[in-house]
Amino acid sequence: MNIENQEDFIEKVSKLNDGKNMKYSVYTMGCQLNENDSEKISGMMEKMKYSNTTKIEEADCIIFNTCCVRENAEDKLFGKLGEVKKYKELKGTIIAICGCMMQEKHIVEKIKKSYPFVDIIFGTHTIHKLPEDLYTALCSNKNVIDILDIDGEVIEGLPIKRNDRAKASVTIMNGCNNFCTYCIVPYVRGRERSRSPENIINEIEELARAGYKEITLLGQNVNSYKGNGSLGITKFSELLRAVNKINGIEKIRFISPHPKDFTDDVIDAIRDCDKVCKMIHLPLQSGSSEVLKKMNRKYTKEQYLNLVHKMKSRIPNLTLSTDIIVGFPEETEEDFKDTLDVVDKVNFEQVFMFIYSRRVGTPADKMEKQIPDEVKHERFNRLKSLVESKIVENNKKYIGTIQDIIVEGRSKTNNNMLTGRTDSNKVINFEGDDSLIGKAIKIKIISEHMWYLKGEVV
Ligand code: SF4
Repeated sequence: MNIENQEDFIEKVSKLNDGKNMKYSVYTMGCQLNENDSEKISGMMEKMKYSNTTKIEEADCIIFNTCCVRENAEDKLFGKLGEVKKYKELKGTIIAICGCMMQEKHIVEKIKKSYPFVDIIFGTHTIHKLPEDLYTALCSNKNVIDILDIDGEVIEGLPIKRNDRAKASVTIMNGCNNFCTYCIVPYVRGRERSRSPENIINEIEELARAGYKEITLLGQNVNSYKGNGSLGITKFSELLRAVNKINGIEKIRFISPHPKDFTDDVIDAIRDCDKVCKMIHLPLQSGSSEVLKKMNRKYTKEQYLNLVHKMKSRIPNLTLSTDIIVGFPEETEEDFKDTLDVVDKVNFEQVFMFIYSRRVGTPADKMEKQIPDEVKHERFNRLKSLVESKIVENNKKYIGTIQDIIVEGRSKTNNNMLTGRTDSNKVINFEGDDSLIGKAIKIKIISEHMWYLKGEVV
């Protein structure tokens, strides 16, 4: 499906905006898939003659792209809505909300009741209809609610405004079939739908022609990607090999794979493809087989460790990162010690740690023995100490090494430095001028810090 029927509305909104210097702001909450959706929203807005502003008070249209994975995302959104209400009252700013939180009925009800000034609510399956919804809101002064409960089709051909000059994310599939018991994603993003290999490869070839050097393939569960056979591609390993052949692309990353679907052909493709970073993000979630069963993760502690062993023995210099949830319902001290044990054994390069938070509508929310907050925090702090001690140990190996990086831009934390990342996804900051941005260069690492490395151009 593509967006041809939206071209009319793009045209109509553009006419309304002619000569008016209209501005928009997109506020993105959530994961890289959401960020990629926001780039598409920005692409559509710019086609409708809005220009971007980071000053929310200047915007004529404010769009919140929400995420429902973490609980405090709701508080954040409602706080922001309280803040922007004054712009609606002062100058009639259009307020729109989209993203996975809008697929949750109780949230939409709350917005309708408590924030009636919101003009447009659209869901994850109707993002492409923004031009039509915006035109209706602008012309009719009515609230527009455009949400599909059923799984939407894969939408192709949306305009896109990339945030970066050197690296780009490409969504290869939407949705998830796994139903981990703590996760709301399958309920809000629907079942897995893979994009056609031809469309993915065309998009990446276009990015390469535009000078992009690093590609991240995105999906909730990338290694269950199923190609429709176009270009002879039916599975993820074949897609990786095809992307690896694209001239101009120098680094390929992907997130997130699921350990249960990590087949040998994917491991071999990572090993064989020179552009694929030898770094795998392999979400563990818990080191306890008991907890993993309750999470419906479909692997045990032993299976996870065996998989890691196999990957490390087949892929030289492989590094791993992971996600861990602390304080899942019924997690005992022994279960938690199993998590610490896996962290100790695997030596992850990065660990994204989360304290379990209940999500309405998930099976884990209904489990009786929820863990008290103080226990969750105490365990989280113990895990954090172990992870940090491992990071300090790991970082030392980088000193004096030469790293091939793509220069991404100015560091977000220090505007005097440029930034890039190792293949293992460690941030490197170094001095240099803007002419290096977007280039592939070599950096010598001169010092290590907890969350980044410092280097100098070779
Ligand atoms: S694999 Fe599990 S955690 Fe990941 S999106 Fe699917 S249900 Fe959620």
